[in-house]
Amino acid sequence: MTNKTPRRKGSRAKLRDFLMENVGKVLDSDTLREVAGTSEWARRVRELRNEEGLNIVTHNDRSDLKPGQYLLVNLKPLPAFERDISKETRAFVLDRNGFTCQMCGAAAGEPHPYDSGRKTRLHIGHIIDKSMGGTDDPSNLRAICSVCNEGASNLTLNRPNTIKLIAQIRRAPAKDQLDVLKWLIQKFPNQAKELTQE
Ligand SMILES: [Zn+2]
Repeated sequence: MTNKTPRRKGSRAKLRDFLMENVGKVLDSDTLREVAGTSEWARRVRELRNEEGLNIVTHNDRSDLKPGQYLLVNLKPLPAFERDISKETRAFVLDRNGFTCQMCGAAAGEPHPYDSGRKTRLHIGHIIDKSMGGTDDPSNLRAICSVCNEGASNLTLNRPNTIKLIAQIRRAPAKDQLDVLKWLIQKFPNQAKELTQE
């Protein structure tokens, strides 16, 4: 009856050891399946990432990886938020932030603006880091994409102020300006109506 649990732990531990021995190396699914010795190997990898905080990335995170390739980036554990924050809080924060990365403006599920090979995946990040006394309260949380989350700081832009933002739009081609207009009208339909009636 208890046969299943120890075996499951066994395969997770085997994968953990193997990944840590091969940190920084791209591994394929056949290798991981063999190491784990179970058809459930992919779930074990997810547990290592989501429950233990191993920084394992796939083609969903990095455009240089192909489907079926896995990479343990380094031995630094992922921030605790991946594990500690409830689904409800995640959903609340993502919704409040309009499913948009609060650092670079990338929108969930769309191609990343600064890493176009990759679909934007959003995580929940702390505004004030926990190590600096920040809490898990929603007021200290924000949506952040995997590119910004990995600390690709050369890709990370500060949020522009209104003057800079308008200057950027002003020098864009008319077609792009119209796209911005459409996007804003979609986002603020009621305000758009009010403004055009005046
Ligand atoms: Zn971002």
